[in-house]
Amino acid sequence: MKVLVLNSGSSSIKFQLIDVERETVMAKGLIERVGFDDAIFSYQAPPKEKIKQRRPILDYQTGIHLIKETLVAPQSGVIRDMSQIEAVGHRIVHGGEDFSDSVIINDDVIRSVEKNIELAPLHNPPNLLGIQAARAELPNVPMVGVFDTAFHQTLPERAFVYALPYSYYEEKRIRRFGFHGTSHQYVAQRAAEFLNQQLKDLRMITLHLGNGCSITAIDRGNSVDTSLGFGTMCGMPMGTRAGDVDPAILLYLQEQEGFSAADVQRLLYKESGMLGISGVSPDMREVEDLAAEGHPRARLALEVFAYAARKYIGAYAAVLGGLDVLVFTAGVGENSPILREMICRDMDFLGISIDSEKNDFKGKLREISAPSARVRTLVVPTNEELMIAKETFRLVSEAG
Ligand code: ADP
Repeated sequence: MKVLVLNSGSSSIKFQLIDVERETVMAKGLIERVGFDDAIFSYQAPPKEKIKQRRPILDYQTGIHLIKETLVAPQSGVIRDMSQIEAVGHRIVHGGEDFSDSVIINDDVIRSVEKNIELAPLHNPPNLLGIQAARAELPNVPMVGVFDTAFHQTLPERAFVYALPYSYYEEKRIRRFGFHGTSHQYVAQRAAEFLNQQLKDLRMITLHLGNGCSITAIDRGNSVDTSLGFGTMCGMPMGTRAGDVDPAILLYLQEQEGFSAADVQRLLYKESGMLGISGVSPDMREVEDLAAEGHPRARLALEVFAYAARKYIGAYAAVLGGLDVLVFTAGVGENSPILREMICRDMDFLGISIDSEKNDFKGKLREISAPSARVRTLVVPTNEELMIAKETFRLVSEAG
């Protein structure tokens, strides 16, 4: 089955045409600056020539129309006609408590996603625009929504309720939702396949360490705790996000410095994390390079990052009552031997021990644990688009 995967952001549409059975990407690309006269369309489908052009793309439907035309055009195309696209999979950020699984999109689903706009005001509206545009352009093609939050709907109440008055949960839906679920679920499945074991037999911690970071405890295939919460600013320090901070700091800044909600948002979302500590860059490669040259605050940023990850591993090992598999993924997790080493150092007491030679590589699926280690530590490249395509295939086949 050929599935078109769409990820519609606030001013962008990312797309991939995936052959699900072969697990291959037939074509992929990106439209940036949707809504503008000078939007940028990039497309690649090797061995065909790459496309990069500036052109007006004033709305999502124009963007999806362009993707369609490019996929079938003789020079750039990879399919004869649109009937070869059997389904479309959409990334949807927030499913609230309404979706614990991916879902075939119909009018009821759209209404539920609309209901969750208040929980994800930046993400759900463009996701919906992408869905509506795709339905208009591909009217008879089944569409599936895959939610970033769905995988974490198995969290037990003790893990998702904040110790606020309970009415805040009941009336305002304030609770831990968790994000990056598609990635955590994908790498967990891949890890189990790689180890030739069943997910239902494994206690895992998956570390999604990219620009955004989250860590998840997965008990026999079910997410039971995760470091992102009601929103995407808590847990691990990230590229520019602070992660967990004492809420007293925010009150202090409001009262003493007159910080507004927008000031707090900017501080916690844009100015903190690796950028905030190092004072130089949110990009982990640059932070690592500077640390290697002896830059003290770059070094400190790495230490704070690794220390936070180590605390989560300890906490989640306790949550799971033991640990069988530790998985590193996303930009930093896949590509940074140094941070993997800093995070796993002196963890033998938990059964975690990595082999520094095996660890010295980037970006492939590989086991890095020492032969004597009780916990199998793996690096598993994430692939959210493939997971969305697989989910789409599963749901459309079941419905078929
Ligand atoms: P996003 O959350 O935007 O999807 P990614 O998963 O692509 O982000 O991760 C981006 C992060 O991965 C950046 O901080 C980048 O510096 C880091 N990264 C990529 N390659 C390396 C590398 N070789 N060494 C260290 N960090 C890397």
